[in-house]
Amino acid sequence: MPIENALTIIQANLGKQFHLEWGARFIRLGEEGYLNRIAGHSEPGIPLQQCPICGPTIVISKHHQHGDHVYCRACGGEALVKREGSHLAIETTGRHGTASDLEPEVDNDLLDHLAQEGSKHISISATRSKPFWHWPF
Ligand SMILES: [Zn+2]
Repeated sequence: MPIENALTIIQANLGKQFHLEWGARFIRLGEEGYLNRIAGHSEPGIPLQQCPICGPTIVISKHHQHGDHVYCRACGGEALVKREGSHLAIETTGRHGTASDLEPEVDNDLLDHLAQEGSKHISISATRSKPFWHWPF
């Protein structure tokens, strides 16, 4: 879905389906172009790749090199990573991955980066004095 369509839907449903303040902030981010480098990318600089067989996305990380095998988690189809300079694409091999090939991969680098970036925005004193949760009993 194009970003503009998503922002229109969010705008039409502010205060109903979408939180009024956070939805409005998200719309501003979109209007200022901050979503352009995120939408349609699995990581910065890596555009989403679609399975040539069934359509869903195949995850490509910054660690995948030219010639690596990647797999569609929906149909099990195998593809080769093609990197030529800054251009990235995949090409089906016509084979299917084994059960081992299709096991989910944990991207520890991405999780580490998320934790480091997130920790910059969390105040320990704020979380201690004002918890965002409470036990229902
Ligand atoms: Zn597929």
